[in-house]
Amino acid sequence: MIIIMKPNASSEAVEKVTNLIQSKGLQVHLSKGDEVTIVGVVGDKTRLHGSNIEISDGVDKIVNVTESYKLVNKKFHPENSVIPVGNTVIGPGTLTVMAGPCAIENHDQLLSSAYAVKKSGATFLRGGAYKPRTSPYSFQGLEEEGLKYMKEAREATGLNIICEVTSLRAMETAVKYVDMLQIGARNMQNFELLKEVGKSGIPVLLKRGLAATIDEWLNAAEYIISEGNPNIVLCERGIRTYETATRNTLDISAIPVIRTKSHLPILVDPSHATGVRAYVEPLSKAAVAVGADGLMIEVHPCPSCALSDGPQSLTFEQFDTLMKDLKPYMDLAGRK
Ligand code: PEP
Ligand code: MN
Repeated sequence: MIIIMKPNASSEAVEKVTNLIQSKGLQVHLSKGDEVTIVGVVGDKTRLHGSNIEISDGVDKIVNVTESYKLVNKKFHPENSVIPVGNTVIGPGTLTVMAGPCAIENHDQLLSSAYAVKKSGATFLRGGAYKPRTSPYSFQGLEEEGLKYMKEAREATGLNIICEVTSLRAMETAVKYVDMLQIGARNMQNFELLKEVGKSGIPVLLKRGLAATIDEWLNAAEYIISEGNPNIVLCERGIRTYETATRNTLDISAIPVIRTKSHLPILVDPSHATGVRAYVEPLSKAAVAVGADGLMIEVHPCPSCALSDGPQSLTFEQFDTLMKDLKPYMDLAGRK
């Protein structure tokens, strides 16, 4: 439930309403716009029965939020969020490009990738140290050793660092090294991990689950924000459909749909969405055109030698060309 205050409501009126809500054991989430203040109520709203909040001074109207996610809901927070991460921000007006190898394989592979993606204009280095592989016999990642290379890459290039965590143990190690945690598609509904990431307060990229609806995805984000961490960025990475020509099907409509339902920024990962290098460029352009706040792209010094996801990884040259080709799309979309 949200309480929309009148444009001229005094701060005393807002305080009176918030005190009343808190006195019933409910949480308040205040959103102060230029003209209107919105008071979000989190918790069991039946506790407010009989308190006549609608006739309290300065109250314009009460709107019931029917969705189960509240704090990530646009109705609670009509302005799009800007998420500070490392030395930058993710959100409206910007286009954040995160690039790098699927997995951190060795020191030189990661460092050369970092220099290359930085030169082409990326602001984040991605690289998996804990790899959630379909087969237990595939390369599982370098774990902390890989994170040390990530840290070195940040010191050398100034890039922000993002790394996926697949367990609480991985998270406890990764927080010592990274600017942003990534929750992968396979862990989108690992609620215990989501709660811990929420408690950590560290910015998090939450990928959409392989077969998750948009509402399930936003509920996963609600798990993180309800533990006190509002620094969440969503990432559409394709969903399972009957189509086999691509690894997954990029749900391009998810971007405008998320825009209407949530204030959180959304990135697109065309690499995992398609599994095919040749489709990364057209879908990156589509993502920017449709209003995405950024891209996550796999880049490798030698895609054919990659230990994971080589077929979808771009070479340094291909990534550089893509970044140049994106410029007119960014200008049209009003993104820097
Ligand atoms: C990744 O980004 O490395 C990854 C495994 O992606 P996803 O969780 O989207 O499959
Ligand atoms: Mn990958």
